[in-house]
Amino acid sequence: MKYYSTNKKVSGESLSNAVIKGLAEDKGLFMPDQITEIPAMFYENIDKMSFQEMAYTAAYMMFGEDVHANMLKTIVYETLNFDVPLVKVEDNIYSLELFHGPTLAFKDVGARFMSRMLSYFIQRQADNGKQVNVLVATSGDTGSAVANGFLGVEGIHVYVLYPKGLVSPIQECQFTTLGQNITALEVDGTFDDCQALVKSAFMDEELNAKMKLTSANSINVARFLPQAFYYFYAYAQLKKMSEEAAKNMVVCVPSGNFGNITAGLFAKRMGLPVKRFIAANNRNDIFLEYLKTGKYNPRPSVSTIANAMDVGDPSNFARILDLYGNSHAAISAEISGISYDDEQIADTIRTCKKSTGYLLDPHGACGYQALKDMLQPGETGIFLETAHPAKFLNTVEKIIGEKIEIPEKLQEFMKGEKKSESMTKDFADFKSYLLEK
Ligand SMILES: *Cc1c(COP(=O)(O)O)cnc(C)c1O
Repeated sequence: MKYYSTNKKVSGESLSNAVIKGLAEDKGLFMPDQITEIPAMFYENIDKMSFQEMAYTAAYMMFGEDVHANMLKTIVYETLNFDVPLVKVEDNIYSLELFHGPTLAFKDVGARFMSRMLSYFIQRQADNGKQVNVLVATSGDTGSAVANGFLGVEGIHVYVLYPKGLVSPIQECQFTTLGQNITALEVDGTFDDCQALVKSAFMDEELNAKMKLTSANSINVARFLPQAFYYFYAYAQLKKMSEEAAKNMVVCVPSGNFGNITAGLFAKRMGLPVKRFIAANNRNDIFLEYLKTGKYNPRPSVSTIANAMDVGDPSNFARILDLYGNSHAAISAEISGISYDDEQIADTIRTCKKSTGYLLDPHGACGYQALKDMLQPGETGIFLETAHPAKFLNTVEKIIGEKIEIPEKLQEFMKGEKKSESMTKDFADFKSYLLEK
């Protein structure tokens, strides 16, 4: 399969280059030349397959030409060695719990898949042996998923840049206690400063001539696309419970950079019978505004209690436009949107807990409420519960007025010794630090 850039100045790129580079040279996002539909038989039998089996079939359709079948199978099976249960919350509304991976973040799947695929491609490159450096700026979740996904992977070093004092203590432990090929850089600045350092590094000619740099954000094909597996598994589980419900499945995705929902749109192109999608947002509602007006006006993000969705210029919007040939009508026919402010999110968490017993995190709360508000008669809604509520401990405990239990997996991280290096927000400092490596 060849890949082209959404900016259309790059085409015919190999998967290997698309994954190693992350972003195309014209600053666009890579897209595959074709999206292959999986034969109907697959969907008829999908409820009898394991998560790993169905994901491997989908992965084979996506990457089978470019990755040796045995290797691809190993990557899929190693990546998906945990469950993603579909939990009934109330009549017609289900939660797909994406938080049972190693860092309790849905980004675990993309991070683990990408780390293995990247390592495979590095080993096959002509300059085999030259280390690839992954730079990632984080306000929490991305850093922990990427650091843990890449831990111990040969040929790759990860630098996690995070804002000093602005990351929750649990999340900080998840990427500062690992050691090995993971370096945590505590930046004296904000998340935007961290992001700016990473962007400047990708642009810097001298740095790029001396070392290989790439990004592990959802701009990378190998990170965003494997998230499509979730949608196949959601459908399979719903079909197992009720054929009728599965025929009218609506999927609602709490969205920030829109990588997750874009993977869902790919799954639909591959034949998955999703009736329609809902993108749920917090106050950062640039996409909703686009749906309403046809105009896309990126702006600085505002901070909310669902902070993993505080994005003012969603990077995967370019992919959505491209998938639908820039047609606002086609996009609006397939995806609707809605947004909630912090007070509404808090109310949703309280009300849902009281009426159903189910505890939402602030991101999943947007997804759940969107289904409550937008589901039509006869439809069955699945929202993606993107994080475990304990990840946002203080926020959620304050909202429900109760203590919540911290899962053992999270407690394990809190036992490690925190190790990070200090960094200023000045690019010259960051650059000379990298050059000395
Ligand atoms: C990353 C993240 C999101 C947003 O996902 P996108 O793919 O960027 O749209 C939503 N919720 C949580 C908890 C996240 O970590």
